Amino acid sequence: MTTEYQVRLDRSACDGVFACLARDDRFVEASDGLATIDGGDDGSHQKRTMDGAEVVTFTDGQLTAAEQAARACPVDAIEVLTGEDNE
Ligand code: SF4
Repeated sequence: MTTEYQVRLDRSACDGVFACLARDDRFVEASDGLATIDGGDDGSHQKRTMDGAEVVTFTDGQLTAAEQAARACPVDAIEVLTGEDNE
C-alpha cells in the first residue's frame, strides 16, 4: 500500500549505533559517522533540513520499515509521522 509519511531524523541525537540501517536501507552512514537518510534520487521524496534534523517526505510502501527503524533506535532519534501529522 502506498502511503505518504514523513521521516524525521534528529542527527544531534543520533549516536551512530546503526540499528536503523538493518531495519530500513534508506538509513545510511554519513561521512561524519552518523546516520543520514538516503531516499534515492527517483523523485519520490523531498528532503529538507530543519533545526539539525533531516525531514524527508516519502510516498511509497515502506512505512513499516521506517517505523521499525524508529522503534529500533536506542536514542529515539527517528520519528515517523503519518496522516494528519503531515503538514
Ligand atoms: S539507530 Fe538511531 S542512533 Fe543509531 S544510527 Fe540510527 S538514528 Fe542514529
